[in-house]
Amino acid sequence: MAASLGPLVGAIDQGTSSTRFLVFNAGTAELLSHHQVELKQEFPKEGWVEQDPKEILDSVHECVERTCEKMKELNIDIANIRAIGVTNQRETTVVWDKTTGEPLYNAIVWLDLRTQSTVERLLKRIPGHNKSFLKSKTGLPLSTYFSAVKLRWLLDNVEEIKKAVEDGRAMFGTIDSWLIWCLTGGINGGIHCTDVTNASRTMLFNIHSLEWDPELCKFFEIPMEILPNIRSSSEIYGVMKICPSRESGALTGVPISGCLGDQHAALVGQMCFQDGQAKNTYGTGCFLLCNTGQKCVFSEHGLLTTLAYKMGKDKPAFYALEGSVAIAGAVVRWLRDNLGIASSSLEVEQLAAAVGTSYGCYFVPAFSGLYAPYWEPSARGIICGLTQFTNKNHIAFAALEAVCFQTREILDAMNKDCGIPLSQLQVDGGMTSNKILMQLQSDILCIPVVKPSMAETTALGAAMAAGAAEGVEVWSLNPEDLTAVTWERFEPQINPEESEYRYARWKKAVMKSMGWEA
Ligand code: ADP
Repeated sequence: MAASLGPLVGAIDQGTSSTRFLVFNAGTAELLSHHQVELKQEFPKEGWVEQDPKEILDSVHECVERTCEKMKELNIDIANIRAIGVTNQRETTVVWDKTTGEPLYNAIVWLDLRTQSTVERLLKRIPGHNKSFLKSKTGLPLSTYFSAVKLRWLLDNVEEIKKAVEDGRAMFGTIDSWLIWCLTGGINGGIHCTDVTNASRTMLFNIHSLEWDPELCKFFEIPMEILPNIRSSSEIYGVMKICPSRESGALTGVPISGCLGDQHAALVGQMCFQDGQAKNTYGTGCFLLCNTGQKCVFSEHGLLTTLAYKMGKDKPAFYALEGSVAIAGAVVRWLRDNLGIASSSLEVEQLAAAVGTSYGCYFVPAFSGLYAPYWEPSARGIICGLTQFTNKNHIAFAALEAVCFQTREILDAMNKDCGIPLSQLQVDGGMTSNKILMQLQSDILCIPVVKPSMAETTALGAAMAAGAAEGVEVWSLNPEDLTAVTWERFEPQINPEESEYRYARWKKAVMKSMGWEA
């Protein structure tokens, strides 16, 4: 195998539940080797979700090292790796000390709800308490979800961070920035940057000028000097340096030349380069993005406007409409970890498969409020429609069905905003290995669901951006070159009336989930 290999590209995929490093054959997208490490999440108080930035960094090192070892065993020369892309869980907020390299607090994860009172306080300063007040500049509603409010909370509540800002020692970043800074040298000259897609999720970024916006920073009272430099999604940011705390520096000197938030990377990895092409990724949450070309389209139905990608310094920015669902795979993890009704995600799938129906049970997993299209922080999870007959299998099925109903809600919103209904849905993400879920999704949407044979499209998108960067140029981004990717189709199998009936019941359940947290 080794002799015929051309240039290779690596991708660091830093997700909420796990970190991965994957190596692809440039152009064909053949996956040669990879390693994955599951990550801890901490829940110090109700609604709080944190991760340790050092553990995240260590997991990246571990994945890179193990993958390189596996490649050696396969007799593949790691010197063929020409570039590395980074893709990451978005919005998750880290502040660190640039003189010591130490994080000054745990990472506040995108799902975290502690900023509810911060959001309410900020809303009071807005005419008519209008959540969409900043939407024309940011594409986003004011919500606990985005980084600016998490950063505001850190500045208000963590003395060490306040002090570090005063002393000029603080650096802010989303996970991409934290990783790139550390991997390119950290305290010894690390590069403090982010790309336009990650920046577009902070609420400090102007999606038209593609720069940090002084008025937004003033609104959130964020000191601009702690923000990273904004770069395109595909250019050389810096090169990998040896990490002093680890022995191996296998990829030292390899350029890091791709960076995209995970959902944007999946859009690229699914080759959705044309206006109107869309994909849905099923991970911890679920995110449907539709490319709107070089036009910034604003939603009338609760969707976000976000950067899709910018493939080079001098290349145009592309935009997307996004429907974000906070809880998808996380509900499966909750059934496993909190209810203990299964010992693995696969077992949840088996429980659901054994009955093939929820028997009238509906599960709205609004653990972090509801995101699109409702943006309702007061919602909380409910399971309803229970009878004497309901058992854990039905609840497992209802949990999977909830993921499909939530997708239907954002697809409906997307169709209304775009005017042209999607004729099929391209999907990816960890949950798409679940065949029951894929069939259910097609049944509930009444359109085919199409899944690439290579589920790692998020990593693939980051690798493509890295391989296409000026100065690397080993990947042409031509969809026809992706010979290693085939597609699996799931066609609707129930009649549309049945689907509509279940969807109407779901909507009723959603209404019941609202207003729990005043
Ligand atoms: P992220 O990128 O957000 O870390 P992944 O794409 O790695 O997420 O997907 C992991 C999620 O998918 C987990 O929340 C897990 O519970 C869920 N998952 C994985 N396999 C299955 C399965 N067979 N059935 C249902 N859910 C699954």
